[in-house]
Amino acid sequence: MECNVENIYKALGISDEVYQFSKDILKDLEPRFKEIDETAEYNQLKVLKAMQDNKVSEACLLGTTGYGYNDIGRDTLEAVYASVFHTEDALVRPQITCGTHALALALMSNLRPGDELLSPVGKPYDTLEEVIGIRPSKGSLREYGVSYQQVDLLPDGGFDYENIKKAINEKTKLVTIQRSKGYQTRPTLSVARIGELISFIKNIKPDVICMVDNCYGEFVERMEPSDVGADMIVGSLIKNPGGGLAPIGGYIAGTKACVENAAFRLTSPGLGKEVGASLGILKDFYQGLFLSPTVTAGALKGAIFAANVYEKLGFRVVPNSTESRHDIIQAVEFGTPEGVIAFCKGVQAAAPVDSFVTPEPWDMPGYDAQVIMAAGAFVSGSSIELSADGPIKPPYAVYFQGGLTFEHARFGIMKTLQEVVNAGLVTL
Ligand SMILES: *Cc1c(COP(=O)(O)O)cnc(C)c1O
Repeated sequence: MECNVENIYKALGISDEVYQFSKDILKDLEPRFKEIDETAEYNQLKVLKAMQDNKVSEACLLGTTGYGYNDIGRDTLEAVYASVFHTEDALVRPQITCGTHALALALMSNLRPGDELLSPVGKPYDTLEEVIGIRPSKGSLREYGVSYQQVDLLPDGGFDYENIKKAINEKTKLVTIQRSKGYQTRPTLSVARIGELISFIKNIKPDVICMVDNCYGEFVERMEPSDVGADMIVGSLIKNPGGGLAPIGGYIAGTKACVENAAFRLTSPGLGKEVGASLGILKDFYQGLFLSPTVTAGALKGAIFAANVYEKLGFRVVPNSTESRHDIIQAVEFGTPEGVIAFCKGVQAAAPVDSFVTPEPWDMPGYDAQVIMAAGAFVSGSSIELSADGPIKPPYAVYFQGGLTFEHARFGIMKTLQEVVNAGLVTL
């Protein structure tokens, strides 16, 4: 048997047409991929330096149980995160269950009754609607007397500076800026644009806390929002910074005051960062962070490949095929539920785990429409691994992300294309 790559693609259900179509697209992407590799090189060294500077030792990879007093691995890891993000402090814990929890924690611990929260970049991520109380929920910020204002982006994606200025008042305590587009088709914000927005806001009100929802953005650029004035950046370890290895967790990196507030809320007033056993999880947190720059690079290449495939076939893709990238998410607007479903079937069929199951739309907690999700991941629900999801509502866009290696992301996209072709939605 010949070990050529066409044969193995064929054995995995990829037709000659899909293979050739994909190959032609990839040829043109080489210069962009080289740039991504250079960013990965920079970020790899940044992470390595932080580990060396903080003297990560073999003992740090072990864990504690019980109260977790003097957990050197946990405390050193938090110092490493603070070094990587150039912040005063960080909270990085398996007790933070997901990105939404990390964001809720950051908000609820730094806001007090009577304060106001402002989002100057439009509607936040769906699950935060209940945290804030945009959709009523038990225990929301709103129930605790924290009000909320939102200023949408302008139709061209720009900041509405005039209305942002009007929205900032004596009650405004915290400004939340979401870097990634989430389930929207607005552009993702670059770190540079986030920096401009933060300076504008700090000019009007210097003591306002600027928080950035950094989900999906880590290591896509050489700088992070904390390098351009953010007081606090927040994210999930089952996305970029976990590198596919962290099995749970979230982080908050920022000023001492912000992180201390978050730690007092996560554990208890007075206890803060001093407790919280790391159990046996730290090796994966360290190693995942170490791998994250290259894993993120692979995912980014996959997203660019997907944009180029589907744009060429006439679908609207966000970001478009040539735009610069600031997160790892790729949106493809199919305009029909069938397109979204076929795409997700392809991603599922490309998975190393559960490749044989068929994803279907369902009512997920925290979302207001049915959502279809495809993920055959080693870490359940991990979206740094090859995954796709889409709410079944107009404009019927699917959001694709991840891939622990570019080779896998590439195959996954080819598999989606195969499903879309098989469903008769396009012809090559
Ligand atoms: C994923 C995500 C969240 C929520 O994270 P979960 O881990 O899914 O709770 C919040 N904001 C953005 C921008 C995200 O991408």
